Order: sequence, then C-alpha cells, then structure tokens
Amino acid sequence: MPQSLADAELRSLLAIYKDVHSHPELSGYEERTAGLVAKELRAAGCEVTEHLGKYQNSKHKPYGVVGVMKNGDGPTVLVRTDTDALPVQEETGLPYASKVVAKNDEGKDVHVMHACGHDTHIAAFIGTARSLGKLKDEWHGTIVFVAQPAEEIGTGARALLKDGLYDRFGKPNFALGFHDKADLQAGHIGVTEGYTSANVDSVDVTVRGIGGHGGYPHKTKDPIVLAAEIVNAWQTIVSRENNPLDPVVITVGSIHGGTKHNVIPDEVKMQITVRTYKPELRERVLADIDRIAKGCAAAAGIPPDLAPIVSVPKDLVASATYNNPELTKRLVAVWKKSLGDENVEIVDPTMGGDDFSEYSLPDHSIPAVYFHFGAVDPAKIVESKQKAKELPTLHSSKFAPVPESTIRTAIIGMTVAVLDLMK
Ligand SMILES: [Zn+2]
Ligand SMILES: [Zn+2]
Repeated sequence: MPQSLADAELRSLLAIYKDVHSHPELSGYEERTAGLVAKELRAAGCEVTEHLGKYQNSKHKPYGVVGVMKNGDGPTVLVRTDTDALPVQEETGLPYASKVVAKNDEGKDVHVMHACGHDTHIAAFIGTARSLGKLKDEWHGTIVFVAQPAEEIGTGARALLKDGLYDRFGKPNFALGFHDKADLQAGHIGVTEGYTSANVDSVDVTVRGIGGHGGYPHKTKDPIVLAAEIVNAWQTIVSRENNPLDPVVITVGSIHGGTKHNVIPDEVKMQITVRTYKPELRERVLADIDRIAKGCAAAAGIPPDLAPIVSVPKDLVASATYNNPELTKRLVAVWKKSLGDENVEIVDPTMGGDDFSEYSLPDHSIPAVYFHFGAVDPAKIVESKQKAKELPTLHSSKFAPVPESTIRTAIIGMTVAVLDLMK
C-alpha cells in the first residue's frame, strides 16, 4: 500500500530532507542538489539525464534532472519537484538550520535558506519515485520525474522546455506538481479547481523629469511628485477599470530617486509586480500601466522625449497555473479515499506564482494539477486562530515545516494520484 511504503521510507527520507535543508542552493546554482536527486532517482529505478536547461542568464548553469521510469504501454505522467532555495537568513533555530552563505548573481554574499519548503518537495519526490518503483504491478506507462531548478525566479520550467524536455522524454498526458502550504495543517491536502496561482509580471519603470535646485521647483520638472501621482493612479486600474470579479494586484515594491534634500533629481526608478489570472486581463493591465504612466507625465508637462520608460523583462514572468477541473475532481476523490475525507480541503487560489504552469502549455492542453500539502503542526494552526496571530509564511526566515507528516502526506498524495492515472 502507498501508506505503508511511505512509512517504510520515512526515516531515510528525513535524513535526505535534513541534508538538503542544511545545504540550500540559489536559483541557477543547484549543483549539489541536482547530483543528490539524480543519484536517488537512479537508485529508485529511473533512467536519469542530468544537466538539462537552457537559460538566458549565462550565470545560471543547467542543473535540471529528469528520471524516466518505464513500465510497458500506457500514459505518460510528468511529476515535478522544484529544487532551488532563497536568499534568506534562516532564523528557525533548528538543529539542521542552514548556515550557508553563497554568492548571488551580482557576486554578493547572501545567506541561503529553503524558506519555500522545496526541500520537502524533493524528499517527497524521491519518496514517490521509490514507492512507484515498488508498485510496478499496479501501473503501466511512463513516469517522467522532473527535478526543476530556478522556480523562485520563474525561469526553470521554460529552460527545461527550451532544452527539449517534451521532444526528448515525450509529451506527457498529465502533469502533476505539488507545493507545501504554510497555513495548512500537516497531514492535509489542499487543492483548487481552475486557476490556483497567478500570472506574475515584473515591470520596470523609469520616470524622467528635469532636475535642478530644490528651492526653485518652477525651473524643473519634478519626477518625484510625478512618480507619486503615477503610483496612486495605477491603483485605479484595480479599483475603477477592472471587473471586481477578476483579481488583479499591482504592487510597487521598489521606488528610488534622488540623492539629497535640496536637489530635484532627473529620474525615479520603480519596480512593480503585477498579478492576474486571465491572459487577456494580463495584457490589458500591462498596457494600462504604460498608458497611465505616460498620461500622468504628459499632464505634468514632461516633454514627449522624456516620457516614462516602461518595460516588462521577458525572463521574469510566470503564467497562471490552471488546475484542470475534471482532473482535479478525479484526484480529490482519490485523495479522500486514501487519506480520509476530513484530510482533503478545497483551498482558495492565491496571487502567488509558480512556473509549474509551463508544463500544461499556454493553451492548458496538457491536463495538469498542482496541489498543496500542509506543513504546519495542527496545534499551531489552532493557536494562531485563537490568538489571531499570523503563522510564518512561505519565504519567511522562521518557516519550519514539521517534516515527518508533511513529507508522508505529500508522498501518499502524489503516489496515489499517479497510480490512478496509470492503472
Ligand atoms: Zn517560493
Ligand atoms: Zn516554492
């Protein structure tokens, strides 16, 4: 049974988990993790290919790993884990906490932590491969295990597809992915039908003016006042131009301009994250951001040749993840049977992003499901509700999943899902 197989592997997987947790690697630098995953997939009976991925950024090396497990004729199912960690200094106080410091893309030393729980994904992914390797009497077809780097920067999945993932290993009939959840109790699975995570776009804006003396504003065109107006005007895209039933987030996460009290600068730079679900809305909101920035500048009397520069870097985007409704319903029934009705929850979609979306292709033609597994001690969830105290979120320096039940549930959830699709 998948349950007893997961139990039998748990000790060894916990050791792997703690090892990966204490050796986190930044996006594009997952060398050690890739080696470990490749070794484990081979031991589980997969034919393994390493060093996959074609990145635009030449600093990022191809550390994608694919393990193919063949068992006669039948469907092809893709199972994905991500492998990268974050530039966060761990503050969990755990005995296996990360002390790793590594160089980031800019060559700066940063602390590194598995603050998004991709280490739980890796352990569960290996556990799933081991279980399915032992359950070959119960399934037919091909399982493509994909250990994907660079999820946190949204480039890993595209890098693998660009390197011929589907040409070399076959286009899957189904794609499955999972993620731990920092507000769901360990032992539970949570899933959403339809859109489950958002389109993520990063927008860079340079607002230009004509600088000069802070005491003589009439002789300048002040880009700081203009930037402030633009930031507020953008919020009307959400509140006035958008159908309230379609979620949109526009967050200005960075704004920098000027050097001194009494100098009006020539420019202000802003960085914005934009979140949407529907593709047509995504295009419209990005166009609105551009139009409003330029319109505000025109109203402020900025000459046309100094209009704001709005750009959307193409390598910093993720598309919304869409859970095929029919497949989701099917898997919910499977999970309820193996974990109990009370341990499977329909959860709200989020405006977070995950490039797992890439595997179902832009037209969602490959049915995919991306589900969550709880990572939190149930007592802590009760306490947080009673005291109205927020739990550490994903990416928090204090995020510490309870590994045993978290990994166990993820293995069972993924194993029974694959078995159902390939029986
Ligand atoms: Zn993350
Ligand atoms: Zn993550």
